Amino acid sequence: MQALAVFPSQKRFGLLDIPEPQLSGATQVLLRLCEVGLCGTDREIASFEYGDPPSGADHLILGHESLAEVVELGREVRSLKRGDLVVAMVRRPCPHAECRACRAGRPDFCVTGDYTERGIKGADGFLTDYVVEDEKYLVRVPRALADVAVLVEPLSVVTKAADQAHAIFDRLSYDPGPQRGLVLGAGPIGLLGAMVLVANGFETLVYSRDSEESKPAELVRSLGAHYASSTIDPIEGLGTRWGQFDLIFEAVGFAPLMVGATQMLRANGVLALTGVPPKAATVELNAGRVLRDLVLRNQVVFGTVNAGRRDHLSAIQHLEQFMVLFPESVRTLITHRVPLDEVPQILTQKRGIKDVVEMTRAA
Ligand SMILES: [Zn+2]
Ligand SMILES: [Zn+2]
Repeated sequence: MQALAVFPSQKRFGLLDIPEPQLSGATQVLLRLCEVGLCGTDREIASFEYGDPPSGADHLILGHESLAEVVELGREVRSLKRGDLVVAMVRRPCPHAECRACRAGRPDFCVTGDYTERGIKGADGFLTDYVVEDEKYLVRVPRALADVAVLVEPLSVVTKAADQAHAIFDRLSYDPGPQRGLVLGAGPIGLLGAMVLVANGFETLVYSRDSEESKPAELVRSLGAHYASSTIDPIEGLGTRWGQFDLIFEAVGFAPLMVGATQMLRANGVLALTGVPPKAATVELNAGRVLRDLVLRNQVVFGTVNAGRRDHLSAIQHLEQFMVLFPESVRTLITHRVPLDEVPQILTQKRGIKDVVEMTRAA
């Protein structure tokens, strides 16, 4: 069978033939991939900026946003049956006994950094026909979501952030009244963030560099949210024009915007950061003002990465809700579906909103 792999030491990527995997453990599951989503992380790995092959290998099979069908089960698998649709979680625990997060099944909170990630860091991904995975890393998805379930993995990153923000808002033991949300960035994560905010009753603004006539802007308006483009609204004037926000969800990774966002928070506001800026990004900062506000206005800034099982389950619930509230907007997120052999041509170009690789159609 074919797989799409990156060879970092040779600075190349392409299709290669690999043997079909077989079950070798009682809790393993053989999966046939239906779809695999591509994102900025894949483009970074294909540009050799990021990503590590499994130890001892010269290549990494790409793909971490999976949707697959169960075709064969190890004899001790209890939670799944043949024909189930599943999404695989991405991160796998580190080997260290002292890492309580990994030992407790939450490698998304790993403290050692020695975790692996399928398709990203030290473990092969899902851009191939069949993979074997342990039952405990699989999350079952309702068939009714088949045509959009490839969004569960990226959405789980958003729901992890949203559920943490919710836990912070729980400190207010009174009804704070109507809440306002700002999303920075209109890529797939930002747009999914806007959907979560709208679904949770926030009056929502999405701010991005895409023009007011762009597809993402149209999608935002289709949710009943507002859209502002940095081509018209420079960041300095955003607060004057749009006011301040209770929850800001950042999905850009642009350091000046991440720091500037603190100045757009209302009292008791929460800023969730999910973008990853380059290490060398420096920003001039009035630290006194930012820190003063954090203290005197009870503000919280937190970063969040990856997701655990409960975040995937929350993502599935949210996706079900989205398919009632704005099904066409959700479908519009997936702008292209391509077969595996076309991936090498499109991998490093950003086009549309979300590219999805069609492996086999969900039956
Ligand atoms: Zn991704
Ligand atoms: Zn760990």
